[in-house]
Amino acid sequence: MKYSVVVLSLLLTISCNQRKKTDQNNTADVETKMVLDSVSKDSTDKVAKPALKSFEGLADTTFVRLADFSEDFAYDMRYATENNFLKAKVYDCAECYTRVKTAKALIEANKDFMEKGVKIKFYDCYRPNSVQYKMWEIVPNPQYVANPDKGSIHNKGGAVDITLVDMEGNELDMGTDFDYFGKRAYHDNVDLPQKILDNRKLLKETMEAHGFWSIRTEWWHYNLSAASNDRVANFKWECND
Ligand SMILES: [Zn+2]
Repeated sequence: MKYSVVVLSLLLTISCNQRKKTDQNNTADVETKMVLDSVSKDSTDKVAKPALKSFEGLADTTFVRLADFSEDFAYDMRYATENNFLKAKVYDCAECYTRVKTAKALIEANKDFMEKGVKIKFYDCYRPNSVQYKMWEIVPNPQYVANPDKGSIHNKGGAVDITLVDMEGNELDMGTDFDYFGKRAYHDNVDLPQKILDNRKLLKETMEAHGFWSIRTEWWHYNLSAASNDRVANFKWECND
């Protein structure tokens, strides 16, 4: 009798231990599945929205595609269309590249703009020197196009042509369109409605606070001071289609 009680209690202990083990396995399976679920959810998100790149390890003079580093800009790359003063498409595709130091300064400036409910919209960024030659062929007049032999700061990756848009993408009134060559586009023309002067002032003061300087005759053009001594470049970006 005593013997059979010992055997019975031994059997119960074994079966109990086995059940515990099975329970543990089930818990582990559920946990693994949850991890897998979250991994596959993450990778789905990544496919839909590629992660932004980091400037870490990049030299200040490296050319980068701005959209890889920030999603907060708007673009209307006019020279990739015929909607510009040349009436010609001189870029194969619409891309905005600048050197790293210019990109960093633009992202910082855009943070200030966004605090005020607006953001930068680009008309032109880095321009390969070969494109400068194309433009010069169409309009060989230094009043409108920089001489490609000397190159412009656009060719150095330190100049951008920009305006401001609200968060819905509506352009702020700057008084003229991009590349309007005339007195109405001048910074020192104060004979304009106050709203236009205020919009230009916001653009100019914020850009200047981030190391850019402007030219008197074009409200949309900004040069990064730190890029003035960089070389004229002829790097060309890839067009995917
Ligand atoms: Zn410009």
